[in-house]
Amino acid sequence: MIRVSVNGYGTIGKRVAEAIMLQPDMELVGVSKTSPNMEALVAQSKGIKIFSPDESSKKFEESGIKISGNIEDMIKYSDIIVDATPNGVGAQYKTLYEKYEKRAIFQGGEKPNVADVSFSALCNYDEALNKKYVRVVSCNTTALLRTICTLSKLGKIDKVRATIVRRAADPKEFKKGPINALVLDPATIPSHHAKDVNSVLKDLDIITSAIIAPTTLMHVHLLNVTFKQQIDKEDIVSIFLNTPRIVMVSSRSKISSTAEIIEVARDLGKMRNDIREVVVFEDSIYTKGSEVFLTYAVHQESIVVPENIDAIRAINGISADESIKITNTSQGISG
Ligand code: NAD
Repeated sequence: MIRVSVNGYGTIGKRVAEAIMLQPDMELVGVSKTSPNMEALVAQSKGIKIFSPDESSKKFEESGIKISGNIEDMIKYSDIIVDATPNGVGAQYKTLYEKYEKRAIFQGGEKPNVADVSFSALCNYDEALNKKYVRVVSCNTTALLRTICTLSKLGKIDKVRATIVRRAADPKEFKKGPINALVLDPATIPSHHAKDVNSVLKDLDIITSAIIAPTTLMHVHLLNVTFKQQIDKEDIVSIFLNTPRIVMVSSRSKISSTAEIIEVARDLGKMRNDIREVVVFEDSIYTKGSEVFLTYAVHQESIVVPENIDAIRAINGISADESIKITNTSQGISG
């Protein structure tokens, strides 16, 4: 059993922790919480062990929420730490992981140089085999890479251009905006997403631009891929149908918005409406010669969860085929 702990139990951390609990070859050592809030209470009710910084132990004692030690204890008990702390905090923790000679997974909010390799399971799994530090790229980059690497099986890609419509905040966040504007973020082109894609696909010619929209549900990407040769829509549909981690919706099912996608997830009883797959709008797929256009939606809160689980196995030297199969089955990802 691989003993894993999760440092930073927020949007990503809680999902990764629960996914770890579902893996047949992993054991969740526990999670870190900095304050004894409702999330800590819920974690405790799920039987998850909580570790806190020393300065918070008194607050936890007063609240009645049991802690199993401090964060250093949690690191000591683990083989691997999944760091899901806020942007930049993971890099500060790295010295602690190094001190105890522990391997770690970082998230996309950290700079690429925090890790030996930036990771996307369908693109460069093997580069992460037996590495000490792996960075799972951001939600937007994960979706871009998953889609691009799948399309690249159809032929050589000449260039990629993408427009990213970003959700303004996660559903739990009440202090972020905008609520009445579309904001160019960044105002300059290319946006940082292209650079992040290049942290995995070093030689890809990609330019991205991004805009923030007042929604919390999902991101949407408008993708334009130019191949070196002519490409047919049927081949694209076929490869998406045969790629777990990518699903398609169409106007036949009357779905043409992120709201309807999330409603389906709710109707299906998916935990927290999570959709770990890239959701391609089938009717948007259009080809002209060597050019492909398509639009897809990205559930930002959960798309990186399977990648984190695969990164844990990659660090442990387990093959891509084996890991992706176990992860998909345990995560209910469509085959
Ligand atoms: P979050 O704010 O929801 O969760 C971070 C958690 O870390 C919080 O529970 C916070 O209390 C805790 N924390 C803060 N300081 C800490 C410390 N010093 N020690 C231990 N815990 C601490 O953030 P998030 O959205 O889960 O993002 C985490 C990482 O995942 C970031 O790198 C982010 O860029 C990346 N990411 C986020 C999303 C998303 O849509 N939310 C998607 C993909 C990747």
